[in-house]
Amino acid sequence: MKLSDKARASISRVVEKFKTSSLSAVTKIARIRLSASAPSNAWSFSNKVLAFMQAEELDCRGFRQWQEAGRKVSKGSKAVYIIRPLLYKGKTGNDKEDAKAVCLGFSAIPVFAASSTEGDTPLPEYTPVELPPLSDVAKRLGIQVSYVPVTEDRLGDCRPDGSAIRLGSHDTRVFFHELTHAIHARIGGELKGGQHQDQETIAEFTTAVLMDLYGMGDTTGNAWKYISQYADDPLLAITRALGMVEKVLAVLTSEKE
Ligand SMILES: [Zn+2]
Repeated sequence: MKLSDKARASISRVVEKFKTSSLSAVTKIARIRLSASAPSNAWSFSNKVLAFMQAEELDCRGFRQWQEAGRKVSKGSKAVYIIRPLLYKGKTGNDKEDAKAVCLGFSAIPVFAASSTEGDTPLPEYTPVELPPLSDVAKRLGIQVSYVPVTEDRLGDCRPDGSAIRLGSHDTRVFFHELTHAIHARIGGELKGGQHQDQETIAEFTTAVLMDLYGMGDTTGNAWKYISQYADDPLLAITRALGMVEKVLAVLTSEKE
């Protein structure tokens, strides 16, 4: 297999993931609802797995395919790789029916995840018609917000440095939660990987405050349930989190004015 070093490194990371974790990517892919316009609908299942394990997103497209969709790949974005067999139709005699495709090897094709693109044309079917409150603030702070199809158990996520968030839901609560993570990262330094108790408490508590602030309903019940998953004593966890909650709210409200 002839692959570039980058592609090789990317694919060996996938293999490593397979070795050390489970096959959960396979079951996740089955549950993601892709836009009908996404080219990856037509990919082989193994290429879907390959792309998803690298990007944690399924709507990955080539550089030109994104251009055709009215978007461009953001500067500095990393490609993920899928594999295409190099087929050669050999001729055996004059009978065309005899022509059999021979696989000569594989080539790696770089594709880019939806969240690695930008442009005035929204991602079809993913971006809501009406953006949630504070979207303008996120933009001013340089936090890239993208709506992409993700699995149901992961409604959104935030890059550890707070530079970008991905949303798989149109629920404003999900946006507020990830936005809080992003601002938290900017105030307190990089976020810790995975679901960390302090971070989740801060994000969920701030979300409850913002939902109330924007008259979008009382979500304290939800927040309590969520925080209880991470903290033995939710009240203590909230008390500890309040300092950062206040700082995050200060950033959001000062930017608003
Ligand atoms: Zn979170």
